[in-house]
Amino acid sequence: AHYLDRIAATDGRLHAFTTVLREAALARADEVDARRASWRDRPLLGVPIAVKDVICTRGVPTTAGSRILAGYRPPYDATVVSRLLDAGAVIVGKTNCDEFAMGSSTEHSAYGPTRNPWALDRIPGGSSGGAAAAVAAGQAPASIGTDTGGSIRQPAALCGVVGLKPTYGRVSRYGLLAFASSLDQIGPLTWTVADAAAVLQVLAGPDPRDATASTEPPPDLSRLFPGNVRGTRIGVPRVALADGVDPEVLDAFGAALAMLSDRGAEVCDVDLPHMQYAVPVYYLVAPAEASSNLARYDGVRYGHRAKLDGAAAGVSEMYARTRSEGFGAEVKRRIMLGTYALSAGYYDAYYVHAQRVRSLIRNDFDRAFAAVDAVAMPTTPTPAFRIGERIDDPLAMYLGDVFTVSANLTGLPAISLPAGLTQARLPIGFQLVGRPFDEATLLRIGDALE
Ligand code: GLN
Repeated sequence: AHYLDRIAATDGRLHAFTTVLREAALARADEVDARRASWRDRPLLGVPIAVKDVICTRGVPTTAGSRILAGYRPPYDATVVSRLLDAGAVIVGKTNCDEFAMGSSTEHSAYGPTRNPWALDRIPGGSSGGAAAAVAAGQAPASIGTDTGGSIRQPAALCGVVGLKPTYGRVSRYGLLAFASSLDQIGPLTWTVADAAAVLQVLAGPDPRDATASTEPPPDLSRLFPGNVRGTRIGVPRVALADGVDPEVLDAFGAALAMLSDRGAEVCDVDLPHMQYAVPVYYLVAPAEASSNLARYDGVRYGHRAKLDGAAAGVSEMYARTRSEGFGAEVKRRIMLGTYALSAGYYDAYYVHAQRVRSLIRNDFDRAFAAVDAVAMPTTPTPAFRIGERIDDPLAMYLGDVFTVSANLTGLPAISLPAGLTQARLPIGFQLVGRPFDEATLLRIGDALE
């Protein structure tokens, strides 16, 4: 009731939610209360959680921030939702996001933007902007987001909360509306590092319904805290920080490193020579996969269908009109970019080439991890920008992803941690990237930083 009241009091201004499940959540909380004795061992017993609206919830609208899915109610729960419910959680609502998770500001939602709780004229980041704003504003103690190129970590950084992108395959994507299948991961946004560990513990693990989910057993994250960093080696790719990074972000980054070395960590330089190509590689691979994944929204199987006058219109016209009406400008831009990159004659020059450079980026990280336990970078080059500031400049929006996309291209786990405020009181994030399936090290370092 506390969190639902908080949502009722604040969401008119923030618009973090696309759907608030007031009645259902209260009924569920009563059920949890009634079963408290026999459910005592459930790790998230009675914990209210908000879920990004790209994740299927049975009987509850799931829009992906798109008009094309208006009115769609999935007949099943995503695996992550079933796991949360099995753990005793209460789902309080669905959170706003950029359409199909394409964006960095939550301005590309068909249902209007979400505002940053720290400054209402600013973006909360994206695409999981609603999920980050909800936690930052105390509307829920934890939320579930998705991260294809930074969409958990970047909004977490800009809203001053913890955001964890697990290793590719760590968490099942069954029931996630796919954006770019070789990059998408689901993960938690929380107030504290220990909370992120507790939620990841519930989400992680093999799933027979998702062939890309790893068979690696979930880690035991309960014994990491308090985090100790004595002897932990942290690498910094200095060249990547050379230009275009806001001085206040650089200061906060330096202060976090100094604090870690004070506590016994060894900080050294690492070389990631191909990271400079991560943004162009990402913006070939992600739209290519998106153009294929979004082909299913054709007006036949889900959601919106264009109303056609007369029986003369054929099925092709129905597809075209449905997609023209249903998708927003950014999604159309991605479908066109991706279709172009995959087309005969260009496929080798663009898609295949991008996949080769992607392997080089992964090799750089593998080499770095022979010498260090984690790589540190800022999460974003700047703090939250103003609503409207980059909406007409897709390239400026894309370049803001410079520090986040390599973890998705390589599949590596990464976390964004709150690292203080600018003079204007805007949150800044500190990011760590880890070895495959070594979320534990990231959480341990993050806890030491708290
Ligand atoms: N900002 C990136 C994009 O627009 C990442 C989005 C994401 O992680 N879902 O594609």
